[in-house]
Amino acid sequence: FPVENVRNFSIIAHVDHGKSTLADRLLEITGAIAKTKRNKQVLDKLQVERERGITVKAQTATLFYSHAGRTYLLNLIDTPGHVDFSYEVSRSLSACQGVLLIVDANEGIQAQTVANFFLAFESQLMIIPVINKIDLKNADPARVEKQIEMVFDIPKEECIRISAKLGTNIDEVLRAVVERIPPPNAGAADPLRALVFDSTFDHYRGVIASITLFGGKLQRGDKIMSSYTQKLYEVNEVGILRPDEYPVEKLYAGQVGYLIAGMKEVKEAQIGDTFYLQNHPVEPLAGFKPAKPMVFAGMYPVDQSEYSNLRKAVEKLTLNDSSVTVHRDSSPALGAGWRLGFLGLLHMEVFNQRLEQEYNASVIMTAPTVPYKALLSSSKLIKSRRGVQKSLVYIDDHRVMMQYLFPLNEIVVDFYDGLKSLSSGYASFDYEDAGHQAADLVKMDIYLNGHSVEELTTIVEKAYSAGKAIAERLKDSIPRQLFEIAIQAAIGSKIIARENIKAMRKNVLAKCYGGDITRKMKLLKRQAEGKKRMRKIGNVEVPKDAFIKILKRE
Ligand code: GDP
Ligand code: MG
Repeated sequence: FPVENVRNFSIIAHVDHGKSTLADRLLEITGAIAKTKRNKQVLDKLQVERERGITVKAQTATLFYSHAGRTYLLNLIDTPGHVDFSYEVSRSLSACQGVLLIVDANEGIQAQTVANFFLAFESQLMIIPVINKIDLKNADPARVEKQIEMVFDIPKEECIRISAKLGTNIDEVLRAVVERIPPPNAGAADPLRALVFDSTFDHYRGVIASITLFGGKLQRGDKIMSSYTQKLYEVNEVGILRPDEYPVEKLYAGQVGYLIAGMKEVKEAQIGDTFYLQNHPVEPLAGFKPAKPMVFAGMYPVDQSEYSNLRKAVEKLTLNDSSVTVHRDSSPALGAGWRLGFLGLLHMEVFNQRLEQEYNASVIMTAPTVPYKALLSSSKLIKSRRGVQKSLVYIDDHRVMMQYLFPLNEIVVDFYDGLKSLSSGYASFDYEDAGHQAADLVKMDIYLNGHSVEELTTIVEKAYSAGKAIAERLKDSIPRQLFEIAIQAAIGSKIIARENIKAMRKNVLAKCYGGDITRKMKLLKRQAEGKKRMRKIGNVEVPKDAFIKILKRE
């Protein structure tokens, strides 16, 4: 395929502005998928994406589009919008020369519109502004065009107004892609350089690496070397994603596709690696900046005998989500486990859910914490602390963009939810790291019948209210047991909050009348499953999902 007819582009936007819906329409109009009413976010393939209605993984699809007597090969990459997954976006952009920047005609420019715009802008990509949802009753595309001119300095004439839902003006989007976005700057005659920008693990075929060819061509039987490991492989299969894997004879410079080469170990296909032909070494392409974790949590198998299975599952999942950092850890109560770093709380929840759904793993996650540098002092002074305003810019008559400096722990857990409800859903939010700052903080421990719950140890400023809130929520999420349970929050040896859970007699078989043995077995099995999701602290059983729930304040 001649490289001048190739276009690689991403769809970027604030969450819910319609990226995945536009991707559906682009797939339909180019015949990659059949047109039916059932096509809803078809690139969101993961169970967690379907259940939550959000994209967490960037997905690639190759489309063919004919225009003015030429057939173009378009590689489309749909990306997540949520701030926790912006690492996926920046990696995807390395495979692209342009982006469709989607803005909701009703909501206008939002926080991640700005953040994603700058990711594309810094990568010097062609940016095509697309105003979506013009079918909505309150749509005001003219206002959004003014915002785009004002904030991004893009002339409003360059905006394309569409409805991804109804399929209005989709052809104009495709025309803009082939007319405005340049072809990749790569030659098939150059030596092979294939950048790995994503990879997944398949039980039967091993590692499937998503690659962009910055030079050369690639086909079955080629002998290729990894720049990272210097290991040699023979290519078994190359192909494109339409959006399912579709084997092809050859991949050419400028194309995006996949590669299978008998890699059995997940460590062998590092994201950011460059493959080259044996005996034709090349300068490796700049990899990706490692993601910077913002939230940390411990993770342990519910059952220690599951440790090595869980280790394999974590290895495979982190191959697919390289923004998670993993360090081995162990705790006296929970045994061997890991300390994981995530980009945010949603990221942590999604990772946990994917482990359970895709790898059938049962894990305990400890309370999320953010990195601190501690200086021990005798003061236990508790001050309320606020964000410090850094800047304020008017986007238009109705909208302002404000920058504040906040302690990270104040914003990772529930700040976004609070902001949303305070502003009736109008405000949006994004953050970046501003480094460590000094603060007056105390360590607060939680006890159940005198046993410390180390998963819930946190570093707080407002210890009294935080302790009370955690104790109350624990009371709500721990089922009654055969004995009374005392819940205490303490700073050092000083108890600052207490709740009690009354004793109760629990007998699942009490519901069984007569001797229905199958019913009895079923109930016992259900109880055993329930137990699997419990973690025993001292003599108290705590449902494992309580740990995450408890730290999410209403
Ligand atoms: P993403 O988070 O950017 O991928 O957004 P989605 O494609 O998942 O869309 C978010 C929501 O907006 C879904 O409920 C879509 O049905 C809806 N939506 C997308 N495009 C349009 C549109 O053109 N008009 C209307 N009315 N709704 C749309
Ligand atoms: Mg989406």
